[in-house]
Amino acid sequence: MNRRERHGATELLRLEGVSMHYGSGANAVSALSGVDLTVKRGELVAIMGASGSGKSTLLTIAGGLVTPTSGEVVIDGQYLSDASSAQLAAIRRRVLGFVFQDFNLVPALTAIENVQLPLELDGWKRHKARLAALDALRLVDLEDRADHFPDDLSGGQQQRTAIARAVVGGRSLILADEPTGALDSHTGELVLRMLRSRIDDGAGGILVTHDARHAAWADRIVFLKDGRIVNETRRDDPSALLGARA
Ligand code: ADP
Ligand code: MG
Repeated sequence: MNRRERHGATELLRLEGVSMHYGSGANAVSALSGVDLTVKRGELVAIMGASGSGKSTLLTIAGGLVTPTSGEVVIDGQYLSDASSAQLAAIRRRVLGFVFQDFNLVPALTAIENVQLPLELDGWKRHKARLAALDALRLVDLEDRADHFPDDLSGGQQQRTAIARAVVGGRSLILADEPTGALDSHTGELVLRMLRSRIDDGAGGILVTHDARHAAWADRIVFLKDGRIVNETRRDDPSALLGARA
């Protein structure tokens, strides 16, 4: 039984016919059109596509940060359209972890304070939050930098801190928007290995990337063009993998 099977086919995220229009009338932009996508536990889905193809829009909708014009988002069995704002806030705090291209760490807080912040916002006692944050930093091999400020960390260490913050306290759906864009390829690979290990432990995730070598860390690669899914390849399809690495 491989790791994915052990964690079962539990669906973490489902997008059903999601469309998104910005603006109205002559200025209307169609950013997504009828997108269907599921992410299961233990599964990392890469999204590739040209600039402006709708990748970031898809991620913000998948994370409940933006409500789509039409279609449904289901996170861990909960239809977001049925969720109260309190339920939505709880899902964002407890299930979802975002990783951004530019790290988005709070400069005035140390690495561990950055990681424990979402837990404290969720009402955790400081001591308990600190222990969980230390666990998350250990996962990305950064416990020895826990008390450093972001300015004193390398780019890769900052991004690993951001990954720790995205998974701390057992967050299970990790949404990463070009998390390796600002990193050299060696450091980018390190960050992806950390992400992959969290996914293999039972989280699920979406990785937006421009880099086919990075997409090859995913189980599936979904290609977006003009807001539509135009192609999908699986990692266990050798010809697809060769194509993705070319
Ligand atoms: P990507 O991340 O693939 O570069 P985006 O999701 O950022 O693509 O953008 C998809 C399309 O939606 C683009 O045409 C972009 O200009 C447009 N768009 C994105 N966000 C907004 C917004 N807040 N208001 C208006 N148009 C937007
Ligand atoms: Mg984008």
